[in-house]
Amino acid sequence: MSDRPVSERSVHIGAAAPFRMLFEFARKSGYQERRLEPGVLDFTFGDPHEMPLPEYVEALRAAAVPGDELWFAYKFSLVEAQEAAAESLRKVVDLPWTGDRIRMTTGGFGAITLSMKAVADPGDEVVYSLPPWFLYEALALEAGLVPVKVRIDAETFDLDLDAIAAAITPRTRLVVVNSPNNPTGRIYPEATLRALADLLETASARNGRRIYLISDEPYNRIVFDGARFRSPAEFYPHTMLCYSYGKTLLAPGQRLGYLALPPQMPDAEQVIDAVESLQVAAGWLFPNAVMQYAVPRLETLSLDVAHLQAKRDRMAGALREMGYDVATPEGTFYLFPRSPLEDDEAFVALLADAGVLVMPGRLFETPGYFRICLTATMDTIEASLPRFESVLAGVRSV
Ligand code: PMP
Repeated sequence: MSDRPVSERSVHIGAAAPFRMLFEFARKSGYQERRLEPGVLDFTFGDPHEMPLPEYVEALRAAAVPGDELWFAYKFSLVEAQEAAAESLRKVVDLPWTGDRIRMTTGGFGAITLSMKAVADPGDEVVYSLPPWFLYEALALEAGLVPVKVRIDAETFDLDLDAIAAAITPRTRLVVVNSPNNPTGRIYPEATLRALADLLETASARNGRRIYLISDEPYNRIVFDGARFRSPAEFYPHTMLCYSYGKTLLAPGQRLGYLALPPQMPDAEQVIDAVESLQVAAGWLFPNAVMQYAVPRLETLSLDVAHLQAKRDRMAGALREMGYDVATPEGTFYLFPRSPLEDDEAFVALLADAGVLVMPGRLFETPGYFRICLTATMDTIEASLPRFESVLAGVRSV
């Protein structure tokens, strides 16, 4: 028996490369101190850079005033929250969603981990595309699953369906899709999602075992130019839709989200029951009572998407004019330009020397790129542009 003080499982998870890199970046690189230094411009995490919406604060304040003696009692997922979430979701994803197939969770993280554990057993494989959201791997490992990674199409940033098809084995139980995508900003087109649904239907039949799709869509309301977001749930009934209020309300620390099963999903009741049991057994993974009371009001609020789009236009336009190779994101908070140096970490270090903090593509298992987060203010964006320009000029003159 090993006398190691911590479990094998925690070591295994901690060793996951993207997870470790993220921790090192967030905690050990000096980033936490640097981002607070005067004059340093921070474009790293999707955190707020301005005071919260006053209506958001008011909704929480109102929800904190007890209406009865059970106000702060143990709460499962509250029906009022589920109903409000369903009503709002019907406007975003054109399906007749109902509250009974929604469970409120501790943000998108909670919804994803519950989806994984509700349908997959240890040893099952979960397929997702690179660049990924950097915590899929940690969540998969924690659930005992085997991550299987494929690349997106580097030219179009669309899913590479041939690569996904080739990655599917008899042990595949889950495919994760994230649209609008962090970090590329791509919204996957209807044709791709229809073809993916056909592919998963065929593969499930061949395997004699259903492959579920996790649709990780915390940015489904953050879309630009009047684009229409299409959810995989519209095309593949075996989809578990994971949502977080952390993006739309720019309040990720308040840990609120949900898992929604589409009305046409067979076996949805069994899956929802499994989710609820897991929520208890995994350590009471319900959002706190106050957050849940606030949901009907929170569903009426959003960050200013038009202003975010203006920030995207300013940043992407200016970078392109300077000579950066950057695609225009269709949604989300992010730009994912190519690194002018092959070594994206070296380039990110040069930007950091100039007081501009961004994330290297390597954190997304996609070297050769870097990520800029547009939750920074317009003033920060303006201040950063001469620095982006001079760092690029410096690299080119070498
Ligand atoms: N999925 C994606 C693609 C994300 O970008 C994030 C947040 N960065 C999450 C899931 C998790 O969201 P939350 O922290 O609100 O649970």
